[in-house]
Amino acid sequence: MQAGEQPIRVLVADDSAVSRKLVEQTLSEKQYSLVFAKSGRETVDLFAEYHPALVIVDWIMPDLSGIEICKHIRSKTQASYTYIILLTGKSEKDSVVEGLAAGADDYLTKPFHPEELIARVGVGLRIMELQREIEVKNAILQELALTDPLTSLPNRRGIEDWAARQLNGAARYGFSFWVALADLDHFKTVNDAHGHDAGDTVLKRFSQILKKKSRRSDICGRIGGEEFLFVLTHATKEDALRVIDSIRAEFEATKFNFNGNSLTVTASFGLVGFAGTKAPDFNRLVTDADSALYSAKRLGRNRVEVGESQPL
Ligand code: GH3
Ligand code: MG
Ligand code: MG
Repeated sequence: MQAGEQPIRVLVADDSAVSRKLVEQTLSEKQYSLVFAKSGRETVDLFAEYHPALVIVDWIMPDLSGIEICKHIRSKTQASYTYIILLTGKSEKDSVVEGLAAGADDYLTKPFHPEELIARVGVGLRIMELQREIEVKNAILQELALTDPLTSLPNRRGIEDWAARQLNGAARYGFSFWVALADLDHFKTVNDAHGHDAGDTVLKRFSQILKKKSRRSDICGRIGGEEFLFVLTHATKEDALRVIDSIRAEFEATKFNFNGNSLTVTASFGLVGFAGTKAPDFNRLVTDADSALYSAKRLGRNRVEVGESQPL
């Protein structure tokens, strides 16, 4: 075991003291942290407490069988996979298929060959290691799927996941919920006059202002080209308007300089709120915010318009 590595947790379940001792001796020199259960019930309890990476379980115990324990472990949703090796006497070997079907990954016949137990535990750990790598990669993919690569803000899906939960909370616990949709003004001309990279710089700057203005109970993100969402909770209408207008004002005051050309860009905002006991679909609110945003564009841009949410 390398310095800093955690010992691998192994739960050994066997009602026979001799069997437990044999497993202990066999695995004693390796990098394992062993825990022993003398009965099925104790196995279930220690499993819950100890979250072992690997379980070596006897087929026949007085209260719960190895099969029942396999089924129990597989019925639990866990952060990480548990590898199960079933220990069977010769007479139960015919039923090994049943054990594998119940969730065991491997089996070993008693009396076992010590080197074989070590080797099979090694196989289990190899599989666990692959499993862990997949879990880490999945977590990264999950994160990427919810993040906009240009601004590192949540994308539409990232906001929707969060907002749907918050919206239900707002309906149940009666806190306020505001959705602001922002769209940069005449942004096409920024790209046309200064290039796409300049446009990207403006988008990133806008997202930094959004991020800076959001509190822990808010979320902001980029949902498309030059469209952004800002969701606020636990805010009065005046507070929501103040925050959104301060974003508008700070962005308007930001000076960009591209190849010696100074430039300012503005954004328009549509804001709608929800208060009630029945949560609407989040996208419904976004559509309503879009209508308010359209009004802001029509009324001259660089402004915030508050819209009405349609009755359900
Ligand atoms: P309006 O005030 O009516 O919103 O006008 P607009 O020019 O902002 O609107 P329009 O929808 O015509 O143009 C949006 C532009 O945004 C066009 C597109 O090239 C640009 N755009 C979309 N995504 C990106 C991006 O990721 N980077 C850059 N640089 N530009 C983008
Ligand atoms: Mg625009
Ligand atoms: Mg647009």
